[in-house]
Amino acid sequence: MLEALKKRVCGLNKVLPAERLVTSTSGNVSGRLPAQPQFVVIKPSGLSFDQMTPETMVVTDLDGKVVEGKLNPSVDLPNHLYLYTHKPELMGVVHTHSAHATAFAVLGLSIPCCMTGMADEFGGEIPCAPYASNEAENIGASILKAMTRAPAVLCASHGVFTFAESPEKAVKAAIMCEDSARTMYYALTMRAALGLPMPKPLPPEEIAKWWGRYHSWYGQKS
Ligand SMILES: [Zn+2]
Repeated sequence: MLEALKKRVCGLNKVLPAERLVTSTSGNVSGRLPAQPQFVVIKPSGLSFDQMTPETMVVTDLDGKVVEGKLNPSVDLPNHLYLYTHKPELMGVVHTHSAHATAFAVLGLSIPCCMTGMADEFGGEIPCAPYASNEAENIGASILKAMTRAPAVLCASHGVFTFAESPEKAVKAAIMCEDSARTMYYALTMRAALGLPMPKPLPPEEIAKWWGRYHSWYGQKS
């Protein structure tokens, strides 16, 4: 079972550079299975995305003990484990420093929900958690405090964490978070250049409508 998960998590880690969400060796994806939630598969530390294979993935338990794999796990492992431990429904966690979303994080700003695509995916703004130093589980704890129903949280002066009921959905949230941040960046830049007022977030009832549609009947029946 974990062999298949290692393959999925390896493939999903490679999506990060393909979608331009990471540079060099930064960023990571982890995943686990509902049938074996006590084990987490995560990217190894410091290995280039090109060199990653399913065999280089690291399997740990929820205490961070490596149970399979020759390499050290990502340094962000404690934060992934904190989220898995406190949110049993989560099966995937992603961390990136994607440029536009991280620009909001550098300014300590949440990404406001001013467009329907964000209402679909996030059901509101993407909150920004206060700065936390990357020691022990500090970041995981600050993310948990800032969490809303959105599958993403920005970490001030750091980057993005996304999380979902599968690693595939967590990667999709990371892609959509950066896409939303990029659009908001353009909108705010144009607003400033044209001397226009600040864009208004969608009204809560509109956000609820889009979120409801997207999470009930959008897409194809499986
Ligand atoms: Zn980071």
